[in-house]
Amino acid sequence: SVSGSGSISTDSERTPIRVDSQDSQVSDGEATDGKGWPRQNSLSMREWDIPFDDLNLGDALGTGHFGTVYRGSWYGDVAIKVLNMDQMGDIDMEKTLEAFKLEVATFRKTRHENLVLFMGACMKPPRLAIVTSMCKGLTLFTHIHIRKDKFNMNRTTMVAQQISQGMGYLHARGIIHKDLKSKNIFLQNGKVVITDFGLFSVTKLCFGNRKGKGLSIPRGWLCYLAPEIMCSLKAQQNQLDDELPFSKASDVYAFGTVWYELLCGEWPFKAQPPESIIWQVGKGMKQTLANLQASRDVKAPLFPISPSPLPSLRQFAEKGKPKHHDRHYHLPKDTSHSASSEAIRPRNSQVTSLRNLAEQGKPKGLNEWHLDHLNLEDNDDENGLSLSAEDILMSCWSFKPGDRPDFVRLLNTFEKLPKKRLVRSPSHPIQLSRSAES
Ligand code: ADP
Ligand code: MG
Repeated sequence: SVSGSGSISTDSERTPIRVDSQDSQVSDGEATDGKGWPRQNSLSMREWDIPFDDLNLGDALGTGHFGTVYRGSWYGDVAIKVLNMDQMGDIDMEKTLEAFKLEVATFRKTRHENLVLFMGACMKPPRLAIVTSMCKGLTLFTHIHIRKDKFNMNRTTMVAQQISQGMGYLHARGIIHKDLKSKNIFLQNGKVVITDFGLFSVTKLCFGNRKGKGLSIPRGWLCYLAPEIMCSLKAQQNQLDDELPFSKASDVYAFGTVWYELLCGEWPFKAQPPESIIWQVGKGMKQTLANLQASRDVKAPLFPISPSPLPSLRQFAEKGKPKHHDRHYHLPKDTSHSASSEAIRPRNSQVTSLRNLAEQGKPKGLNEWHLDHLNLEDNDDENGLSLSAEDILMSCWSFKPGDRPDFVRLLNTFEKLPKKRLVRSPSHPIQLSRSAES
């Protein structure tokens, strides 16, 4: 549970970590307390140094924007992330090394069961590498986008809960992930393991130094970027080496996208060109959960969408604004002409306004408009959940960083999702065992 995240406080956390780019070695006098014991507060980077030659490099697992990840062995199976040092001049090398050592210092501070285990690093240029435990399962990306696995509600919530635990822990330690995405989340026997936290600065340097490329946007990266980051991307156009406004809140935004993937089995703004995504997100437009039903067995939605038939716009106008409705509304496209009613007019700039859409064209994948969450009945325990999936999504995707929940609050929400509302249809039986696990 993340409930302890607020009270995490260990000696090592308060201990300043020596990050000395000149020489990471410490003298004997510094390293012991005089009685021969290593002194806690003089931990140096040295302890996390792994001579590159000690590693047995196996097959390459893949190349991300940081460098190449190899399967390897070092007293057991490990994953070795080798920083791509090509095309770097001497100055860049120094800068990179410094950034790298900071990343390693960050990594070193993490101990949580939902975070990949940091084992050490090779810090002797030009061989910079990070050694972590090898994740045995598949990434959420592979489950969702390659294998098209459908997660039932129980599993969806379980995964979201564990991500929130790991992320809550990171944030409590002052660490911003900066690259939370389904490719960096592994599922091992039902356990979530998050990887690649805090590596983005190094990544960024790699980007910035790639000659003549301008802003290079990795595929599938954009939909995790919060509006404030989108906007600064836009402002810079040509390079990524200025600071981007990553924050805890931008991690929460990225989590919202993962939540969307879990629910819908695809990415928001799927198949749209980058300019179009940047434009829409920068304007505060959001993908809705309209795809949820389209991508699922309609008879057995994982989240009960609406307990009663969808309210008509007429009902809506007569009954007035339902509870909780300072929220956005999504209008069915065929009723756009009746949008003159105050009650159904979108209230804030974050709404996908019809005008915007008209100018931009209907985003692909947004085939169905819906009024799913316009539940006019009072919410009791039974149907409260019908609002939750989208509520969580929309709050994580709030335009203003300050409006997004933190992971502790999210975790609370997930814990409160009533388990009795799990899908009970034969096509999506409740998973009591781990039978759906890879
Ligand atoms: P990305 O995260 O964008 O896929 P990475 O460079 O982080 O790019 O990873 C490259 C490949 O190595 C991916 O296929 C990823 O799943 C795999 N990988 C990374 N870290 C680990 C790990 N700790 N255990 C197992 N596989 C890993
Ligand atoms: Mg990764």
